[in-house]
Amino acid sequence: MIPKAARRLSGSIRLNSNLRVRASDVNSSGARLMSEAVSSGDALRHVDDVVIVGGGLAGLFCALKLSPRPVTVISAAPLGEGASSAWAQGGIAAAVGEGDTPESHAADTIAVGAGLVDEAIALSLAREAGARIHDLLSYGVPFDRDLEGRLAVAQEAAHSARRIVHVRGDMAGKAIIAALVDAVRKTPTIRVIEGYVAEALLTHDNAVSGLQLRKAQDPTLAPITIMAKAIVLATGGIGHLYAATTNPREASGLGLAIAARAGAIIADPEFVQFHPTAIMVGRDPAPLATEALRGEGATLINAKGERFMLARHPLAELAPRDIVARGVFAEIAAGRGAFLDATKALGDTFADHFPTVYASCVASGIDPSKQPIPIAPAAHYHMGGIAVDARGRTSIDGLWAGGEVSCTGAHGANRLASNSLLEAVVFAARIAEDIDGRTFAARSTPSYDVPRNCAVPPSAEANLRALMSSHVGVVRDGDDLADAIRTFAMMEQSVGNISLRNMATTALIVATAAWSRRESRGGHYRSDYPTENPALAFRTRTTLTEARAIAEDVAAGVAPRLCATA
Ligand SMILES: Cc1cc2nc3c(=O)[nH]c(=O)nc-3n(C[C@H](O)[C@H](O)[C@H](O)COP(=O)(O)OP(=O)(O)OC[C@H]3O[C@@H](n4cnc5c(N)ncnc54)[C@H](O)[C@@H]3O)c2cc1C
Repeated sequence: MIPKAARRLSGSIRLNSNLRVRASDVNSSGARLMSEAVSSGDALRHVDDVVIVGGGLAGLFCALKLSPRPVTVISAAPLGEGASSAWAQGGIAAAVGEGDTPESHAADTIAVGAGLVDEAIALSLAREAGARIHDLLSYGVPFDRDLEGRLAVAQEAAHSARRIVHVRGDMAGKAIIAALVDAVRKTPTIRVIEGYVAEALLTHDNAVSGLQLRKAQDPTLAPITIMAKAIVLATGGIGHLYAATTNPREASGLGLAIAARAGAIIADPEFVQFHPTAIMVGRDPAPLATEALRGEGATLINAKGERFMLARHPLAELAPRDIVARGVFAEIAAGRGAFLDATKALGDTFADHFPTVYASCVASGIDPSKQPIPIAPAAHYHMGGIAVDARGRTSIDGLWAGGEVSCTGAHGANRLASNSLLEAVVFAARIAEDIDGRTFAARSTPSYDVPRNCAVPPSAEANLRALMSSHVGVVRDGDDLADAIRTFAMMEQSVGNISLRNMATTALIVATAAWSRRESRGGHYRSDYPTENPALAFRTRTTLTEARAIAEDVAAGVAPRLCATA
């Protein structure tokens, strides 16, 4: 007997490299495959050893590193889609150029992180970069090379050396993910389940026992359950919690939320990086105009043609990312508008040098070789995330986290450009090493009540995202944060739609940590506390329980308490 949920599934389930089953095709003859894969009845009996949630760089790299150990990869979108990794334009930071050293790379990382970088993690990250780049080469990533065949390295802001390994100018992410997806598809021990969203982590005695999944885009279908002994969360960032973002819609903080709802410790959630030059042409998510454009001499101007960054920082357009983001924000808030002007610096060579940006502009009727590009700051990268140790272990037994959903301490309060792809591969490899060779004790599989999932009007999600942008965005203050906290606290407890409730959970954790940190540091800027306070130079560690307690304080008008140090 096939459980009703399984009969109604209509996603695509990939059992090995040669066998792909469309669940909608499953009938009585196909039922065996279906139930082997994900039906709730069988899943409760059959316990997967290792399940990886996320089909971006961290998830795929971890799966490949674990091979030939069998693993299941679950991805909300088809592989290659719905992942920030595939959109990366710059590349991967690695001290592989002549004269460069991991020590120098770590020093740059520490300088940008505004006093909160874990220095040992930053150094080990930089030291492992070369080996991971060679792994990527072995999986077929076609990194650019110079005339002598050495890896070509580009310069990016705040790096003291040329150290960005890249592919065909701005195509790094696309090429890396294409190579890894191909390698995964050819690995028979990797089972891929595409089009399913993990909406709850099942735990027992602070140890993972499984996941509740639901078909993406169709919340009316019943959820399914996969039991597992080891789970790796690699679900990416939180950008889509904001109305203006460069991130795909799948980056809506769900991985962080399900870990937090299961009791995991979250680190540094208040630190969100806003990219100063998202292209504002009415697209959601907004296309990105890479920093390298400013490196090539493109300027930031307002509607009057004034270069507004000259008055704000000695480095003008090449100032640190958060300072440029606030400069752009201020011009827009003052009604003067903000534009990226590459007409003089690049002109007719624009399309050759930056094909991805050029295509995004042209698709929206802008010729960037002749016209300034309208821009605004947009949520881009989350420095905070699920707290992990140097092996990627979280505070829940059997749960690892890697990539942007995790917080290793490598970025502190601000991320150095192109360090996130590096962190994703370094920690994915460490997680695989930590899991490999281990046999896990049988986990108990308690029964649990499947929560009802209610429909919500589309405006509810839009309102949450608008509130994050206006109240928890580039410039924050205590009153706005308190307003946002009141709304998110209500939503994360009472909204009947599970996905929206998870979004509100992550939003609450970010907003309460931002409310508690009464200073400005790195990506976190408070207009009511505009300077860095040396007494607050510590990392945040928090939980959903603590976020809820802070929300109660806010409701009662109690002054902020300090979060614990990491
Ligand atoms: C436009 C852009 C450009 C960037 N450029 C660079 C750059 O040049 N260099 C650099 O170092 N970094 C860059 N970054 C940041 C970098 O791309 C990300 O930090 C990194 O790719 C994150 O990798 P990840 O594997 O953790 O997450 P992702 O690549 O985002 O993958 C997350 C995966 O999890 C899946 N998922 C999410 N939630 C669920 C769920 N609940 N259930 C099931 N599956 C789920 C998604 O579908 C996806 O497959 C850029 C980011 C953006 C948006």
